[in-house]
Amino acid sequence: MSQQLSNKQLIAIAEEFGTPVYVYHAEKIAEQYQKLEKAFKKSDAKFFYACKALTNINILKWLRQVGASLDCVSINEVKLGLKAGFEPKQILFTPNCVDFEEIEAGKNLGVHINIDNISILEQFGNRYGSTYPVCIRLNPHIMAGGNYKISTGHVDSKFGISIHQLRHIERIVKSTKLHVTGLHMHTGSEIKDVNVFLQGLEVMFEMARHFDELEFIDLGSGFKVPYQADEAETDVDQLGEKVAEAFAAFEKETGKHLQIWFEPGKYLVSESGYFIVKANIIKQTTATVFVGVNSGFNHLIRPMFYDSYHRIENISNSKGAERIYTVVGNICETDTFAWDRKLNEVREGDYLVFYNAGAYGFEMSSNFNSRLKPAEVLVKDGQAHLIRSRDVFEDLLRNQVEVL
Ligand SMILES: *Cc1c(COP(=O)(O)O)cnc(C)c1O
Repeated sequence: MSQQLSNKQLIAIAEEFGTPVYVYHAEKIAEQYQKLEKAFKKSDAKFFYACKALTNINILKWLRQVGASLDCVSINEVKLGLKAGFEPKQILFTPNCVDFEEIEAGKNLGVHINIDNISILEQFGNRYGSTYPVCIRLNPHIMAGGNYKISTGHVDSKFGISIHQLRHIERIVKSTKLHVTGLHMHTGSEIKDVNVFLQGLEVMFEMARHFDELEFIDLGSGFKVPYQADEAETDVDQLGEKVAEAFAAFEKETGKHLQIWFEPGKYLVSESGYFIVKANIIKQTTATVFVGVNSGFNHLIRPMFYDSYHRIENISNSKGAERIYTVVGNICETDTFAWDRKLNEVREGDYLVFYNAGAYGFEMSSNFNSRLKPAEVLVKDGQAHLIRSRDVFEDLLRNQVEVL
């Protein structure tokens, strides 16, 4: 049975902590992690939680307890990971377009370094030679993913080193004696078709033949979870079977045993999250009925930024007659969460909940319009814990320097 919070629990949280509020369900995160472990049990697999999806320190600590390693895209995420108790060796640092100093800072903290361009690869080789292992992020030139903005492996993408630059990579590795232990790719987000991963894996195996000291192949992420009721999620069981077969065949042919690494973000935390808002205003215009809520793209930007769909429910009138609404925010800009949604009749003051709000929700929030960032709550063992206080007015001025 899939773990879920009830409307009653969510309403109690809204009453106790106020709205808007992000709520995360610890047991659901654990359930997702365990699904991955089970699916890949025939492989030598490791899972690095891509923490840019949600970095609250309690979420990091919980994922560590559940058994995950950590994927970080900035030096500050690395520091948060260490603070949450991860060992340096459990952390993979996968930044892009950062300067050499930031790479060195990661190296000095002892974490795995994933290098995404030739310039840094060469500087790293010149400075450290064979003394510090590196992983190389490749661009396999595969177009995949739910939306162009979240596709990272295609030919125009800024990410990774093109597989067509293999000869150049080899020259650097040979001349600087770089110790390459991993090859990485990440083709994007929301990839339902397991063949995209398998296609990528074939490319990686081809590349792997050129690196004698390789220990792992990292296929990144892109595991899809359902956002709409009738949507499928990536069939991780099927992918697990196919990946195990492919690695066994590679090992048989080359005599090399490789680990498989993944970096799930969304898959681990998306469904664990609920974003509760309050209906401020019901506004009937000539064309539509708007529900104006006490939030906006300053708190949940995915619908406006990625055209993403979040299921919405009116949890405080769940038996009300269904009507068609357009749900909008309170920001002075067009911030539409959803057009033409059937909701149980919404009255001013009702609580609406956005589902799948765990990943890239709070994390992408801002203070636009001088509005305050919402609180975050973690539910574990049936208990609700405040894990981030709602902003207060003083936070808006905190780093401002008054000179006039
Ligand atoms: C964002 C990102 C991920 C996670 O992607 P999801 O779609 O959230 O699973 C994994 N690896 C890298 C390098 C990323 O940038």
